[in-house]
Amino acid sequence: MDLKRLDEILDARGEPRFRAGQVWEWLAGGARTYAEMTNLPQTLREELDADLPISTLDPVREVKSVDGTRKALFETVDGRPIEAVLMSYRDGRRSLCLSSQSGCPLTCNFCATGRMAFGRNLTESEILDQALHFRRQGSVNHVVFMGMGEPLMNLDAVLAACERLPAVGVSTAHTTISTVGWVPGIERLATEGPRVRLALSLHAAEGDVRSGLMPVNDRYPIPEVIEACLRWREARNRRVYIEYLMLAGVNDAPDQAVVLSEVLKPHDAFKVNLIPFNPTPGEFTGSSPEAIAGFRDTLIAHGVPATVRLTRGRDIEAACGQLAAGRAA
Ligand code: SF4
Repeated sequence: MDLKRLDEILDARGEPRFRAGQVWEWLAGGARTYAEMTNLPQTLREELDADLPISTLDPVREVKSVDGTRKALFETVDGRPIEAVLMSYRDGRRSLCLSSQSGCPLTCNFCATGRMAFGRNLTESEILDQALHFRRQGSVNHVVFMGMGEPLMNLDAVLAACERLPAVGVSTAHTTISTVGWVPGIERLATEGPRVRLALSLHAAEGDVRSGLMPVNDRYPIPEVIEACLRWREARNRRVYIEYLMLAGVNDAPDQAVVLSEVLKPHDAFKVNLIPFNPTPGEFTGSSPEAIAGFRDTLIAHGVPATVRLTRGRDIEAACGQLAAGRAA
């Protein structure tokens, strides 16, 4: 829901301040219609119903993976495509992957989103409406900002959305913002907003390899990014999660694991998630399971905690790096 427009309508009617909170509580609890909001005056419900759509996003289609992962494609009122994903796990986690931008200006060359035209930053309401769409289908309890876009380039809206997520069921401790290393944003995150978790998409520990994958590395090189992460860690007293996509012949050699272990110091500040590469059209192929296991073992042998991430939603192109609404299933 356009929360700014809601405030304007309530102000114009001279409604008391708590009305906005009442509407938000209903939305955060999964309400689909104004008719359900029984503690609002009837005339207000009717006016809202006529003037303010319940969501800023138009759901265009939703697909479900064999593993239960759901991917929704939406359109904003100005026709921008965005996608969000819900992953359900046996242990009860229901984790949302949210988008912060339509498309992405950073053009990482392994990423389907990076090959889309960049649209614009999403508003706080558009970010929340992705979560509310899935909340209407059941409870949700984790959020990762790993969908379309670089969240730290749209940090005001992302943090405003994070402030509201606990009402939807997602605590701050279960909210993760993932960045490619946008240093000014990491610095702001150290002091501003709720104490969310931080993940860094590193994908290579050598500058030339990383610049080949992610042009942002020329602007914010690895040492600068790692220093910013360490300052964040000092301020927030939390570990930084390192995301590392495993690309055959590019970044998966054992000696590259050793270089990574050198970059990530002190070791207790970081934990590495190795991500099997999800096929997208382009030049890369994923590392073999043996190469991934060997890379993980080398990291652990050098003192860096490391795990291999379970891949979800591959068959519906909902996995990491696969979101690209223009060619969605
Ligand atoms: S990996 Fe993230 S930052 Fe890079 S192009 Fe894709 S969405 Fe943008």
